[in-house]
Amino acid sequence: MSEAYRLVKNAPLDRHSTFHVPARAALLAEINNLTALPELLTLDETRDKPLLVLGDGSNVLFTQDFHGLVILIAAHGMEILEEDAASTRVHASAGDNWNELVHWTLARGLCGLENLSLIPGRVGAAPIQNIGAYGVELAETLATVEAYDRQIGEWVQLTREACDMSYRQSVFKRQPERWIITAVELILPRSAPLKLDYAGIREELTSMKVARPNAMDVSNAVSRLRRRKLPDPAVIGNAGSFFKNPVVSRLDAEKLQTAHPELPVFDAPDGKKLSAAWLIEACGWRGFREADAGVSDRHALVLVNHGKASGAQIWSLAQRIRDSVQEKFGIRLEPEPRIL
Ligand SMILES: Cc1cc2nc3c(=O)[nH]c(=O)nc-3n(C[C@H](O)[C@H](O)[C@H](O)COP(=O)(O)OP(=O)(O)OC[C@H]3O[C@@H](n4cnc5c(N)ncnc54)[C@H](O)[C@@H]3O)c2cc1C
Repeated sequence: MSEAYRLVKNAPLDRHSTFHVPARAALLAEINNLTALPELLTLDETRDKPLLVLGDGSNVLFTQDFHGLVILIAAHGMEILEEDAASTRVHASAGDNWNELVHWTLARGLCGLENLSLIPGRVGAAPIQNIGAYGVELAETLATVEAYDRQIGEWVQLTREACDMSYRQSVFKRQPERWIITAVELILPRSAPLKLDYAGIREELTSMKVARPNAMDVSNAVSRLRRRKLPDPAVIGNAGSFFKNPVVSRLDAEKLQTAHPELPVFDAPDGKKLSAAWLIEACGWRGFREADAGVSDRHALVLVNHGKASGAQIWSLAQRIRDSVQEKFGIRLEPEPRIL
C-alpha cells in the first residue's frame, strides 16, 4: 500500500456522517497526497467500483451500506496566491474545514465569506451544492475549482462559469461521480458592502450592541444566530436543511399566497422561492418523533436522529413529510442532502 493513502476494508461510516446512522463501506481510503489519486483509482480492488468522495458527511444520508470505494481527502493548506489593493486570490485545499477558511480570510482583512460562517463541512464539498446562507452563495466569490476528472482521467481547473452554479446546484451535483475536487480558488475583496438584510442579522448586531459592523461582526452575528436556530450535529444527528426551498412560477406563488396569506415568498432568479420550513410546519411535523427518527423542535426543515435511527427510517420519515406537503399544497419538495 502507498504511503499517500490508507485503505481499510468493510469500514464503519457512522463517524463519517453527521446523521450518525449505521452503515459500512466495502473500501475506505484516506488520502493525504493527492498526486496518488490516479493510482488509487486504478488498483485491482478499486477499479470499476462505485465511488463516493466524502468530506465531513454533513450533507449525506446513508440508507444502506456503500458497496464501493469511499475516499476521504485529508489534504490541507490555505494560501494567498495574489493580491492587490482591492482584492485577493485565495487557494484552499479540499480537506480544509470550511468555517476555518472563513475565519482565516477574515483574520487577513478579507470579506465576502462572513455570511457563510459556521456552515459545517470541508472546502472540497462547498462547490457541490454551491453552499449558501443568509443571502450569500459561494458562487459570488468562487474563481476556479481544481479537480480530477475521472471521465477523461486528467487534472482540470474549472472556471466559475463551467461550474454552472445556481441555488443548491452545480455541474458537480448533476454528475456526482465525475469530478474529485481537490482545491478551490476564491477572489475576496478587502472592502465590500455588507449584506445585512437577511433573517435577523441586523437585529442580532443590535443585540450585540454593534452600531457600525465590519465583516467580522457579521460573522459573529451569523454564528450566534445559527447556534441558536440549528441543532448541533455533535449533540443530535442531522444534516441541516433536509429539503430545498421550492421555486415555483410567479402565478403559482400568487395562488398559494391568496390561499395562505402568511406563507413566506422570496424573489428567485427563475420565479418565486417558498419557505420549505413553513410548508412542513403547516403540515404539523415540527417536533414529530417516531422511534429515534424525528423533526427538530427548533426548525421544521431539520430531520434528526435522536440516537439509534437508521438511515432508512429517516428517509422513510422524509418521504412521508414530502407526501403530506404535496397533498396539502401541491408542491413536491426535493431533498437537499445526497441520499445514498
Ligand atoms: C447543522 C447543519 C447546517 C447546515 N447549514 C447549511 C447552510 O446553511 N448552507 C448550505 O449550503 N449547507 C448547509 N449544510 C449542509 C452542509 O454543511 C454543506 O452541504 C457542506 O458543504 C457539506 O460538506 P461536507 O464536507 O460535510 O460534505 P459531505 O456531506 O461529505 O458531501 C456532500 C456531497 O459532496 C460530495 N463531495 C464532498 N467532498 C467532495 C470532493 N472533494 N470532491 C467531489 N465531491 C465531494 C459528496 O460526495 C456528497 O455528494 C448544513 C449541514 C448541517 C449539518
